[in-house]
Amino acid sequence: MDVTPFTLTAHQHPLVRALLRENADTVAALVTGLGSPLHIVLPQVFTQNALQLQAVFDALGVSHTLLYAKKANKAHCFANACSALGMGVDVASSAELSKTLAAGVTGSMIGVSGPEKTDALLSLALLQGCLVAIDSLSELQRVVQLAGKLRRAARVLLRCRPHSQPHSRFGLTEREQQAALDYCIQQQRAVVLEGFAFHLNGYSTQERARSASALIDLCLHAQARGLATCRQVDLGGGLPVQYVAPAQWTRFLQQDEPAHYHANRSFGGFYPYGVARPGALALRDVLTHPLEAGTSLAHKARTHGIQFILEPGRALLDQAGLTLFSVQGIKARQHYSIITAQGSSLSLSEQWFNSEYLPDPLLLGHRPASAQPFLACVAASTCLESDMLTWRKIAFPCPVQRGDRLVYLNTAGYQMDANESPFHEAELPLKVAIELSQQGPGLHWQLDRSPSQFT
Ligand SMILES: *Cc1c(COP(=O)(O)O)cnc(C)c1O
Repeated sequence: MDVTPFTLTAHQHPLVRALLRENADTVAALVTGLGSPLHIVLPQVFTQNALQLQAVFDALGVSHTLLYAKKANKAHCFANACSALGMGVDVASSAELSKTLAAGVTGSMIGVSGPEKTDALLSLALLQGCLVAIDSLSELQRVVQLAGKLRRAARVLLRCRPHSQPHSRFGLTEREQQAALDYCIQQQRAVVLEGFAFHLNGYSTQERARSASALIDLCLHAQARGLATCRQVDLGGGLPVQYVAPAQWTRFLQQDEPAHYHANRSFGGFYPYGVARPGALALRDVLTHPLEAGTSLAHKARTHGIQFILEPGRALLDQAGLTLFSVQGIKARQHYSIITAQGSSLSLSEQWFNSEYLPDPLLLGHRPASAQPFLACVAASTCLESDMLTWRKIAFPCPVQRGDRLVYLNTAGYQMDANESPFHEAELPLKVAIELSQQGPGLHWQLDRSPSQFT
């Protein structure tokens, strides 16, 4: 059987390239010293991504608030970056909220989302003046009670179930929205309705623009009923990230087949790794999307003094991290090899959605290429048959050896730590935050720990 797998070359941000080319020895020393897997996080790249998204709004003259969806990565350095930028954070648990406050983000810049939030989370949000996205009528009633008890007015958004996603378990139905609006009008001492929110699964520009436009209409309706504060539309997150070149991605999908994977494994679907219009481009597409009557979404927002909230997770983390695994050993199989890497696929979350993180892993450091590529899949060092980092047979340029390090690029968005556990009594992998000097070689690294652990 002659299997020639297709390459999926992961994009590399210039800072990532500088890190891997000019500082490979330091990176290798960090993995030796701190253990495998090791996550590297790059707050400089996160900051660049945030500025790019803000520039899209600014260029279109649309006022906006950017909230980083914290669930996409637990690293403290990203919350610290938000604080430094004066940017907000979207949280959905008491621990996420308290860590965000500890990073120096003020309560008024924090959005609280998630379904049927606990009284503890809602109370802390009320006391800190956070903006709470209400997901059900019963939650709204609890917020009103808590606001009375704490003698605070709650700042709220009503999260709406999008028309295009009638099976979503999140958000209020149209009937519930009306009841919630009536209730907010009755309870104006306890709740300040600041606007409406939605979050779409999927990446359709048109769906996102139409949903946003409908929520602008809802704001105007609420204003007409006397709620002058109702001026914000929360677009949710969901800006896609481009991991590999679109042309390469299209070719990959055309030739993809089970024979290219260890054990003839097949998957139900993949993230759109080669999406054509990622991040800031996708945001621009949404805001400039033509609506009925010849206007665009941006124009409609400007006309009515509406402010957008955007809650990206993955798009802010694009290129802002990578994950290294030490190679423990190599097994030869007919036509390919199995690399055993120290760690588990819990540190590369895509396997936990019955899918695979497809961008090709690299070998750290440089070795001359051999005449034939070295075909290998990558297994974890656990005792589960299914614990594989990469089922796909990757064409490495030279034979992989014990002691090598594999680099998985662009893992900061959701891959790193969403599912990590102490399986086999392993310690949770560490994260190192790295800042590179913009001029010449040299870097500064620090363990990513809570602010209380630094002087
Ligand atoms: C997860 C989530 C986000 C972030 O989504 P991304 O796809 O990472 O941008 C934003 N808002 C809500 C309500 C979410 O649940």
